[in-house]
Amino acid sequence: MSALGAIECAGGYDYMQHGERADTMSDTTGKGQGADTMSDKIEKSDEEWRKELTPEQYRIARQKGTERAFTGEYYDSKEPGTYKCVCCGTPLFDSDAKFDSGTGWPSFSEPVTNENVRTESDRTLFMRRTEVLCAKCDAHLGHVFDDGPGPRGQRYCINSVSLKREDK
Ligand SMILES: [Zn+2]
Repeated sequence: MSALGAIECAGGYDYMQHGERADTMSDTTGKGQGADTMSDKIEKSDEEWRKELTPEQYRIARQKGTERAFTGEYYDSKEPGTYKCVCCGTPLFDSDAKFDSGTGWPSFSEPVTNENVRTESDRTLFMRRTEVLCAKCDAHLGHVFDDGPGPRGQRYCINSVSLKREDK
């Protein structure tokens, strides 16, 4: 654990494959989730998050809530900037990928990089949706749908509350 922080990003995955996880490689063929191979994952207790976040941020980002449509800070915003995770500051979405979906939530065609977000199947509310989370701290961000514009056809429908924009 202690040595991982010093490893440069470029060498991170290689290190994992040849290092302490080598013994599990034979039976993990094809799984390749990647989520648990990140060496700098942030894990805090609910109590710690509750202290650091506002009640609304805690409800949405840590308890998978949803802000009311057309009420969030960023749904209608066109300001240039980088949208970061409100919990841990990881860059998640760029204003260049933001588009007006008319849904009342900030919508993006793609994340800043695929490594910074992860997805999970969500079957709550009797719907089949794909939840989007911060890869670093597991904050609930929103959902991704495949009816978006652009070459990838994706629409990341994200709660403003889960984001903090850093202006360019
Ligand atoms: Zn985060």
